[in-house]
This record gives sequence, C-alpha cells and structure tokens, in this order.
Amino acid sequence: MKPLPFRYMKPQTLDEALEALGSGEDAKVLAGGQSLVPLLNMHLARPALLIDVNALEGLSTIEPSDAGLRLGTLVRHQTLLTSSEVRRAVPLLAEAAALIGHEAIRARGTVGGSIAHADPAAELPMVAIAKRATIGIRSASGSRRVPAEEFFIGYLMTSLGPDEIVEDVLFPMAPSPSGSAVEEFSERHGDFALVAVAAELSLGEDGRVARAGVAVAGAGPAPAAAREVEAALIGQASPEGVRATAKAVAADIAPEDDLHASASYRKHLAEILAARALERAWQRAKAASEAR
Ligand SMILES: Cc1cc2nc3c(=O)[nH]c(=O)nc-3n(C[C@H](O)[C@H](O)[C@H](O)COP(=O)(O)OP(=O)(O)OC[C@H]3O[C@@H](n4cnc5c(N)ncnc54)[C@H](O)[C@@H]3O)c2cc1C
Repeated sequence: MKPLPFRYMKPQTLDEALEALGSGEDAKVLAGGQSLVPLLNMHLARPALLIDVNALEGLSTIEPSDAGLRLGTLVRHQTLLTSSEVRRAVPLLAEAAALIGHEAIRARGTVGGSIAHADPAAELPMVAIAKRATIGIRSASGSRRVPAEEFFIGYLMTSLGPDEIVEDVLFPMAPSPSGSAVEEFSERHGDFALVAVAAELSLGEDGRVARAGVAVAGAGPAPAAAREVEAALIGQASPEGVRATAKAVAADIAPEDDLHASASYRKHLAEILAARALERAWQRAKAASEAR
C-alpha cells in the first residue's frame, strides 16, 4: 500500500517547525520514519502535513552535565551504541539500544521518535522510566519538562500535545557505585520484545542496595515502573536476595492476552527477566564498588 497524499516540508529552524506544528493543520513530525512510514503506508496515520525535522540543527547533541546525560531528540539509536559518553554516563542506554530492531533501523530511528511513538514494548521508553528521565518538550508558546512516568499514558499515547515536539530527554546519572542491565525476550532476533526489563541498582556505603530503578516493557499498555520490586530491593545485600525481589513484579504489571502471548505467560517472562536483569545489575554494582 502507498500513503494517502500529504504535504511535506523540511524546515531549517526549530521555530519554523513549531510554527507549522501549531498552525492547526493535521500535522505529524517525521524523524527517523521507522514507525511513522509503515503507519502511513498502512493508512493507520493520515496526516495532511509531514514536518521533517531531520535538518534542524542542535537536536543531535549528547551533553553530559551534573544534572545527567541530555540527549537531543535526533540522536540515532545506533549512536547510543557507539558513543563512549553514553556508555560511560548511562550504560543502560547502550545495552538497550543494541536490542532495537536491526542496524538499518537503528541507523535512522531516533531517541525522540521512540519516546514520542511510545510503543509499550520499546526499549528506550522503558529505560526512561527506570532512570526517572524527564522529557523536554517545546511548542511555539513555550517549553516544559515532564517526568517519563507522566509522559507515557497508554498504548501509543503520551501527554504530548498536537502542537508540541520532543526536544530532548534528560537521563539522571546513577549515584556511584551502581550497576545496570537489560533483559528481554522476543520471538525472533530484532523483533520488538514480548517482555523486557531494565534495572539499575546503586549501593550504599554498607554495600546494600540504597537506590533501585526497575521498569518493564511489553506487559501493559505503557512501560511501567516496578515500584513493588524497587521497594523490596532496598537494603538487599546478596545476589539471592536481589533475585528474590523479582517475584514482586507481578504486582507492578497488568499484561493482557494478545496474538503473541497470554497475560500469564508475560507475567512469567517478567519475573524471570527481572531476576536475570537484577542479578546482572547487582554483579556490576558490586564490581564497581570493589574497583573504587
Ligand atoms: C522492523 C522494525 C523493527 C523495530 N524494532 C524495534 C524494537 O525492537 N524496539 C524499538 O524500540 N523500536 C523498534 N522499531 C521502531 C524504531 O525504534 C523507531 O525508530 C522508533 O519507534 C521511532 O523513531 P523514529 O525516529 O523512526 O520516529 P518516526 O517514525 O519518524 O516517528 C514516530 C512517531 O513519533 C512522532 N515523532 C517523532 N519524533 C518526534 C519529536 N521529536 N517530537 C514529537 N513527535 C515526534 C512522529 O510524528 C510519529 O508519530 C522497529 C522498527 C521497525 C521498522
């Protein structure tokens, strides 16, 4: 199938893009096109205007600061894998990005596109939740910053208004020593995950877990923070103790039966993947602690 007719523009400045987006016309932002173009082809998206943001300057930056690692909306998935700054500041991002589709998709797909598209099984929204990231949003009338947990509100639904653009995502640095890991299960290599889990643990002076960020994708209409697991992790001081907290994940998720898996199978996967991710995150946090 071919897309229905649409107008196309490629603005050279963010102001121009925001003005077009706020004009009231039924417009969509085109970033990497890896989700939008298939939707256009299948007539599941029928915008009157496509605003291609790929020529906008200053939106592909990777900026470490005291506040965290700020990724411009046009940073490509592949860059998350190859950037030494990303690996050093937020290794969870590099590990998660390696699980996104295939290299051709990662070469085009963008951080902001994945966040705005909000697929419940996508890796980057899950990492944003686990890391308590905030989403920088701009419109012609101003800017705002929204915690990831408030941004993702349902299946392919976000709190982004029709005149707004994702400008950046800010991932706070984990307090040191810390370790993180992602685990996922998909039907074929490169497919979206059936279920995925991202975990980050930080240890206190006493060697116990002092802070935990855990999120699950593919087990509900939006990626979810595993609050029960996070609470159970605080104070844990052994790999067995850390693994055992994965049992609590069932209380954090609400999967439904679909063509690919039953709800109970997704719950089963979430527990196993959480246990694996937590154990690896623990080992990495311990290694970081011993290396100090
Ligand atoms: C075969 C295949 C396999 C894939 N596998 C995976 C996978 O395993 N994991 C995964 O996470 N993803 C996967 N993807 C999707 C891929 O990650 C996309 O890159 C991503 O979902 C969307 O990013 P994009 O830059 O391509 O956005 P686009 O396709 O250009 O846009 C997607 C949506 O976001 C909106 N949008 C884009 N940028 C902005 C912005 N800055 N502000 C506001 N709105 C914006 C668009 O208007 C559109 O509605 C796969 C895609 C394909 C084709």
